[in-house]
Amino acid sequence: MTNELLSVSEARQRLLAELQPLPAEEITLAEALGRVLAEAVVAGHDLPPFDNSSVDGYAVDSASVRQASRSAPTRLAVAGEVTAGRESHLHLESGQAMRITTGAPLPAGADAVVPVEETDDSVPMIPDRVPAEIAIYAAVPAGAHVRHAGLDVRRGTSVLPAGTRLRPAEIALLAALGCAGVRVHRRAKVAVLSSGDELLEPGQALAPGRIFDSNGLAVSAAVQSAGGEPMRLGILADRRQAVTDGLERAVAQGADLILSTAGVSVGAHDFIREAVLHGGRLTFWRVNLRPGKPLAVGAYAGRPFLGLPGNPVSALVTFELFVRPALQRLHGEPRARHWRLRVRLQDPVDSDGRETYLRARVHWANQEYHAHLTGSQDSSVLSSLVSANALVVVPAGVRSLEAGAQVEAWILYADGSAGFDEPQAGDAGEMTSS
Ligand code: AMP
Ligand code: MG
Repeated sequence: MTNELLSVSEARQRLLAELQPLPAEEITLAEALGRVLAEAVVAGHDLPPFDNSSVDGYAVDSASVRQASRSAPTRLAVAGEVTAGRESHLHLESGQAMRITTGAPLPAGADAVVPVEETDDSVPMIPDRVPAEIAIYAAVPAGAHVRHAGLDVRRGTSVLPAGTRLRPAEIALLAALGCAGVRVHRRAKVAVLSSGDELLEPGQALAPGRIFDSNGLAVSAAVQSAGGEPMRLGILADRRQAVTDGLERAVAQGADLILSTAGVSVGAHDFIREAVLHGGRLTFWRVNLRPGKPLAVGAYAGRPFLGLPGNPVSALVTFELFVRPALQRLHGEPRARHWRLRVRLQDPVDSDGRETYLRARVHWANQEYHAHLTGSQDSSVLSSLVSANALVVVPAGVRSLEAGAQVEAWILYADGSAGFDEPQAGDAGEMTSS
């Protein structure tokens, strides 16, 4: 174990180097949102599977309408109708057209579709009753308004590589290819342990000198937001044996990752490191970071362990910087992923030289992102975290920044709050053209 202060990025690299993606499991596509493919998906058929029409209109042989125009329409006999989901076995003869709906298979003998808007629109559109003939008002080239088989995906091609996180778009593609299930990495079971004699469960009666355990629920919620399965294992007393018991419970319940908060610093009642070392190892426990310098990383009984700091803001900030990327790795993502923006500081800031993450609100105005601090940066103050949608990064070694400086910000919530509001009626700005 090293006692030096590691940089944030080196600490993260050391942590990630110790983690392996969890084994694969088969799940249904209905459960697949946010999961990560454990193997590539190969298309079992062309997409679309057959040539089909992209419009409602008349399927034709393009050669037969070469002369058609609005002033001199070409009249074609209508041989029948082909609709989405119903195939026609009629073969189009020269001089014939077939009424067709969007998504219906192109009939044999046709190579193009004339949109209904380019035909005699006085002809009523009655289901299953086609007119005897139709006047075509425009020539179309071969292939017009036809979506050819394999336009989207060719059978046999690898459409999604292993490591792909499944968003609605990927789920659409998999469903379109007929996949009912997918092989994905298992979700991490994450043990969440709070420690401290002062802690009470929310719902209990507040007592002198006591506070409610906010970290347990907050870290569990963060685990959920990262796609993990939190297992809240309760509050541990400030005794070595109590911590050991908690760690053993985590192992017995099959935790893939063990998280604790508090008790990891240098106080006389901080037993986390000692308990972990007793049944495991620590890789490092201090990071050149504010908030969150005491952060212990190691393993207990072969399970990866992270001891987060106790202050509620430190716990959640270190979650973003370390635990979320760790979960991404366990879940099979090929690289850690977070959302960073260049922003312009609206307030001057001071720092003690550690890499510092400041609670801020980022918004878009005048063609750039601006960040203003949301209040006290004390690591116990939650209200400034509640007002924040981002963490502004002051690099290590920097002691102060002026208002107007350009810095990097980690966006905390992809909820659009760092974006811009749609201008309201009466607002000056974007919508006016003068
Ligand atoms: P410690 O790391 O144990 O010295 O704790 C640092 C600070 O975080 C102390 O003020 C603790 O009371 C507070 N703290 C520790 N655990 C929690 C928790 N689960 N919820 C809220 N505050 C906590
Ligand atoms: Mg404590």
